[in-house]
Amino acid sequence: MSSAQSYDYIIAGAGCAGLSLAWFLVREGPGNKKILIADQSLQARDDKTWCFWSSRGIPDANLIDHEWKKLEIRTDDHHAVSGLTPYGYYCVQSDSYHRKMTSLLRESANIDWLECRISDFETHNNRARLHTSEGTFDADYIFQSIRPVDIDAHELNLKQHFIGWEIRTNRPAFNTEAACFMDLSVEQHEGITFMYILSYSETRAIFEYTLFSEHLLATENYETEIRNYLKDRFDLDENSYTVIRKERGVIPMVDNGFRPAANDRVINIGASAGLAKASTGYTFTRTHTVNREIVQLLKEGKPPIPRNPSSKRFRAYDILLLYIIKNYPASALKIFETLFRKNRLVAILKFLSEETHFGEEIKIFWSLPHRPFFKAIFGARKLLRTAFSTK
Ligand SMILES: Cc1cc2nc3c(=O)[nH]c(=O)nc-3n(C[C@H](O)[C@H](O)[C@H](O)COP(=O)(O)OP(=O)(O)OC[C@H]3O[C@@H](n4cnc5c(N)ncnc54)[C@H](O)[C@@H]3O)c2cc1C
Repeated sequence: MSSAQSYDYIIAGAGCAGLSLAWFLVREGPGNKKILIADQSLQARDDKTWCFWSSRGIPDANLIDHEWKKLEIRTDDHHAVSGLTPYGYYCVQSDSYHRKMTSLLRESANIDWLECRISDFETHNNRARLHTSEGTFDADYIFQSIRPVDIDAHELNLKQHFIGWEIRTNRPAFNTEAACFMDLSVEQHEGITFMYILSYSETRAIFEYTLFSEHLLATENYETEIRNYLKDRFDLDENSYTVIRKERGVIPMVDNGFRPAANDRVINIGASAGLAKASTGYTFTRTHTVNREIVQLLKEGKPPIPRNPSSKRFRAYDILLLYIIKNYPASALKIFETLFRKNRLVAILKFLSEETHFGEEIKIFWSLPHRPFFKAIFGARKLLRTAFSTK
């Protein structure tokens, strides 16, 4: 006999993926299901700024905190500020997302909330079982987003890592019409290094010093680079701004990272499912798309194990790019610079969101230096074979 409390579904982790799944379950799910949402903290946290581009927006436009109609790109010999139509570049703050989502979800009588430390999950008598500091709970399925991807278990074990400073200046300093997608003109270290800038107003912006590489830096190194950049690019010394918030991130950039389920009762969601796009780290849109598919599968009475959101072709492109960044970083920088110089930004965004057809992809690849790709096809042949042999 089991003394565990019973639910239809347990959502383990109430971050971006957990809350979005709950939202889809309530709005579009099988109906009348008892759901437990468990997290170590059910308080809103202002620790992540999620940005994405989309022509369709996210399920609810009220979730968006800021939008830019243009993006800026800067390299050593190229500078462009480009319109994005049909896309918008959107920003969602994690604390406002949490507040808005939870206030919608708390209207549902079918959801229980539990603040607890989750220690483990398993299958037990063909049900999923969650072990927590507050007791044990059973369900048909657990949807978990608490276990990070094991980056170092992958051969291509890169990370997108950054520290961001949100600052307020004592004089107008920023162009509010465009966010800076990549300023690659900064000094390059290991991998690819760039500054990413979100300017909310003429006096408030986030500067994220970002690398695509294997090794993290000491905190002081990221921060020194931000400080120097503010001085060199904007003539802002430390007396002219206040740091009002800091943000830190380490996002996996790995080969063949998609892991939709731990077993047939424990389904991985969000970053834990390996949904960070390998070559960019963008996860937010893919999380929402895949969650919607999970809910559709539940509604159809099928096992809620989603398909890989990336086709084999795009998985292969990502592996080639990661291989080049890891093994030939100077060539990778040339590839990024050429990509932005020779292609329209909208075409690049369409390619990065995996919405292009093969002809458009050939056009982009044709514009880039070929040699590093030939070397990568040979060097990463085993990983490419795995990408093509998995569903
Ligand atoms: C700083 C930062 C900025 C990012 N910016 C972008 C962006 O601009 N665009 C984009 O597409 N992606 C971005 N990402 C990547 C990705 O979208 C985020 O990581 C996103 O938060 C992933 O959602 P998630 O629900 O999978 O994980 P999380 O949002 O991290 O949620 C996991 C939840 O699990 C809980 N938890 C963990 N362990 C336990 C435990 N043992 N017991 C109980 N609860 C536990 C945590 O409290 C947390 O609430 C960013 C990531 C970071 C870190």
